[in-house]
Amino acid sequence: KPVVIIVIGMAGSGKTTFMHRLVCHTMASNLRGYVVNLDPAAMALPYAANIDIRDTVRYREEMNGSNLGPNGGILASLHLFSTKFDEVVSVIENRADQLDYVLVDTPGQIEIFTWSASGAIITEGFASTFPTVIAYVVDTPRSTNPATFMSNLLYACRLLYKTRLPLIFAFNKTDVAQHQFALEWMQNFELLQAALDSDDSYTSTVSRSQSLALEKFYKNLRSVGVSAVSGAGMDVFFRAVEASAEEYMENHRNELDKGR
Ligand code: GDP
Ligand code: MG
Repeated sequence: KPVVIIVIGMAGSGKTTFMHRLVCHTMASNLRGYVVNLDPAAMALPYAANIDIRDTVRYREEMNGSNLGPNGGILASLHLFSTKFDEVVSVIENRADQLDYVLVDTPGQIEIFTWSASGAIITEGFASTFPTVIAYVVDTPRSTNPATFMSNLLYACRLLYKTRLPLIFAFNKTDVAQHQFALEWMQNFELLQAALDSDDSYTSTVSRSQSLALEKFYKNLRSVGVSAVSGAGMDVFFRAVEASAEEYMENHRNELDKGR
């Protein structure tokens, strides 16, 4: 069965560019990938998608016809798409033995996918049928700001508890900034606390309790440094995917057996 990689991250973190890199990497490695775009508002995609939400849902019409703003339009499109999502799963199931990976791009704004019922339906639709992992893309240069780093951790943590899927922290844009500082923050709590304390825009009491609550979470987080632009770190990333897929199998085998 193919492993589904759902690419999630804040707007501008580089999800779509990373998707393109994943597509290039799988092709160059003779791995068979199936590419799904779930961003109805994407203008031009740098990769070719096998399934594209833009083919089935007209985002602009959704938006204008219902007097919605851009985010409302994306949400409405995602909702329409999720009602037909079982068809997507069966299309992929029918060629499961010819595929190694299913690569999934998500809307620019992270909230739309992670906080909507449709996002949950789609994620669970994949996860109940295929080994599914989340690639959480982080904008590394921006995350040198401790508050930004902290909100990425919080998002990823929520996602982990909500989906119960294995999650890989992909520190992107390492061609601009290395992610070593983040690894140090994650390994040594006090360094992160100190960084947060020195940041006036964030109250130290809140961040202190948050980072304590999250300690167990980020000590066990799989993280890799990548560059969607240069292609650095892709082998390490795919090894993390393999390890995550095994973790999925261990956690979900019983549930899958029950479903059969
Ligand atoms: P998305 O909103 O998460 O899909 O982000 P995009 O893939 O559209 O990328 C946002 C911006 O970040 C674009 O200008 C990309 O060229 C840039 N970008 C993405 N990945 C990298 C990277 O690895 N290195 C650098 N330097 N820029 C990147
Ligand atoms: Mg994008």
